[in-house]
Amino acid sequence: MIPVIALVGRPNVGKSTLFNQLTRSRDALVANLSGLTRDRKYGESRLGARPFVVIDTGGITGDEMGIEAQMAEQSLLAIEEADAVLFIVDAREGLNGADEALARHLRQRNKSFYVVVNKIDGLNEEVAVGDFYALGVESLFAIAAAHGRGVRAMIDQVLARF
Ligand code: GDP
Ligand code: MG
Repeated sequence: MIPVIALVGRPNVGKSTLFNQLTRSRDALVANLSGLTRDRKYGESRLGARPFVVIDTGGITGDEMGIEAQMAEQSLLAIEEADAVLFIVDAREGLNGADEALARHLRQRNKSFYVVVNKIDGLNEEVAVGDFYALGVESLFAIAAAHGRGVRAMIDQVLARF
């Protein structure tokens, strides 16, 4: 069985940057524009002890209309397909209502998920992650996807479950 890991979270938190780190491809569009990846995008990663499939998603805010609603739908489908979910949040933005809504959704669906605090480069790690324990998790990962920091250690822990 090849584990399937979905990357979900609000637009602009760094999902596609992490996808590119994991797959070492430049296929997923990464840009300052939020929500460029509108559909689910699949890649294969060989970063850890065993191969896995990673799904990039366009982003979900819990309050969408039009094209954003379609992006959100893709995120929900990716969650259903996944064996594990990496729920990405932005250390620079802090916790917000959309993050809380997504955490509630994941719990309702009984999905095992990991909170991943991205963009910790240049920040005090303990301060940066502190907020996010309010999502009700016992542990979380702190990474800087743009620099690869913390990514391998995170993947090793997630894969250890399979
Ligand atoms: P997505 O919408 O969740 O897919 O987010 P993107 O991967 O497109 O990234 C959104 C923005 O955040 C881009 O400008 C990235 O360069 C930036 N970004 C992503 N990861 C990091 C990081 O680890 N540190 C910093 N400082 N910026 C990051
Ligand atoms: Mg993206």
